Amino acid sequence: VNVVLAYPSPAAIGQGSLGFRIVHRVLSLLPGVRCLRLFLPDAEEGRRGPLLTRDGHQDPARADWLAFSIACENDYPNVLALLERSGIPLRSSRRGEGAPLVVAGGIAPSLNPEPLADFVDLFLIGEAEEALPGLVEAYRGAAGRGREETLLALARLPGIYVPRFYRATYHSDGTLASHQPVADVPPTVRRLWVPDLEAHPPDAWVQADETGPGDLSLVEVGRGCGRGCRFCAAGFFYRPVRHRRLPALAGLLDSLAADGRRVGLLSASVMDHPDAGAITSHLAQRGASFSVSSVRADALTAALAGSLARGGLRTVTIAPETGTESLRRSVGKPLSDEEILQAAETATRHGIPNLKLYFMVGLPHETPDDVEGIVSLVKRVRHRVLAEARGRGGLGTISVSIACYVPKAQTPFQWHPMERVPDLRRKLALLSRGLGKIPNVRSSHDLPKWAYLQALLSRGDRRAGDLMEAAHLLGGDWSAAFRQSPVNPDFFVHRERPAGEVFPWDFIEAGVPREVLRREYLRAADRR
Ligand code: SF4
Repeated sequence: VNVVLAYPSPAAIGQGSLGFRIVHRVLSLLPGVRCLRLFLPDAEEGRRGPLLTRDGHQDPARADWLAFSIACENDYPNVLALLERSGIPLRSSRRGEGAPLVVAGGIAPSLNPEPLADFVDLFLIGEAEEALPGLVEAYRGAAGRGREETLLALARLPGIYVPRFYRATYHSDGTLASHQPVADVPPTVRRLWVPDLEAHPPDAWVQADETGPGDLSLVEVGRGCGRGCRFCAAGFFYRPVRHRRLPALAGLLDSLAADGRRVGLLSASVMDHPDAGAITSHLAQRGASFSVSSVRADALTAALAGSLARGGLRTVTIAPETGTESLRRSVGKPLSDEEILQAAETATRHGIPNLKLYFMVGLPHETPDDVEGIVSLVKRVRHRVLAEARGRGGLGTISVSIACYVPKAQTPFQWHPMERVPDLRRKLALLSRGLGKIPNVRSSHDLPKWAYLQALLSRGDRRAGDLMEAAHLLGGDWSAAFRQSPVNPDFFVHRERPAGEVFPWDFIEAGVPREVLRREYLRAADRR
């Protein structure tokens, strides 16, 4: 089976994607499968001329499958761009027998595939390791059958969604009435997940490291997070939490240490790993330096900060998410201000000079005090760090990154409207002014217009896909597409959804019952 595996963003981003790496590895290890990688050409590589895979220089239109690994909804328009550049019809219904099967997976379409439903032949819902071997085998078993018959056979596999065999109907007010099979396929699709992560040997791959000297060899030590922050799609979707314990990792870690590699430990929440201490000591005993992607402020102990500093870490990343304790409790991440201040102080005391702080604006139940609280918290962090940094060669940089919150499918905030763009702009301007006055602080933020499109493509249904196609055909002009379309995108983005509304993604059995998500949503209103 000849697969072109595409990442709908430039290689600099795609090569750092854990999901893309996993799919490439799983496919490459399957007997009889040839898997070649394709990325969106960046400005330097040019957007014209023949589009070829990075390895093997193959034309994607000649593959059996053109498979997309998609981490973020903002990359959906790039799926259309890659299809067009490959000469493959955009719409699934227009593809003939000779066209590759267009396959898509990854967290974004697994949460809600519907905005891509008319452009993708087959979705893989959940984790690739579980689905791909069976999918390849069934595809081979369907050899000689026509496209429609092959897709029908594949649509009966667990975790596989073939949109052409389901029809969506709507009420007169535009809300979804039903999403039902029109062929002999299951009415719901169960998310697949790997029950035993250790059944899949760990792997390491090299990525440029922004937080310390030299490149990192990344190793996935766990998947999922048990903290349950109400805004976090990954926290809900990758349940249950699974780990690779030290005995399963030791061989790989030892060989990386022997080669003098810096090791980046990857997991949603590395410090919640039951062997976090044992893994870091194991690496330290072998003289290996290591890093973690981000730390929970309440987990940054003196011992951990010391090991990270000895490992060459120059920047520690903490995500307070918002400026006040009460909103942090409301969104399900009950870190106290003192824990954040203490973590910043501990990192500085152990010689890590720079801090990166992640915040969001537009969270449900946010008030002006919460937004202003971000400036005041950053000031207090700087004050604490400055006191500690005196006599240590001075203060490094505090980078503050502010994202616009997008309520995602399959999370407790799926009922909640996204904040209006002008209000987000006002909050971001206020923060830029306030943070701009603090010495040593550098701030950056998302553009609300991109967050709006992300909300449309993560909360919409097949009509959001029509809007995306119109924007694509208009050269990426979304405003013109919105003006020409009878569909109002605000309907998907800014509407508070009634408790019982049928969501476009309801046919996916993701694992967390809807009533649990609803209960968590209602609990978030309690700001005490
Ligand atoms: S701790 Fe981080 S990864 Fe875990 S649920 Fe919260 S935000 Fe998500």
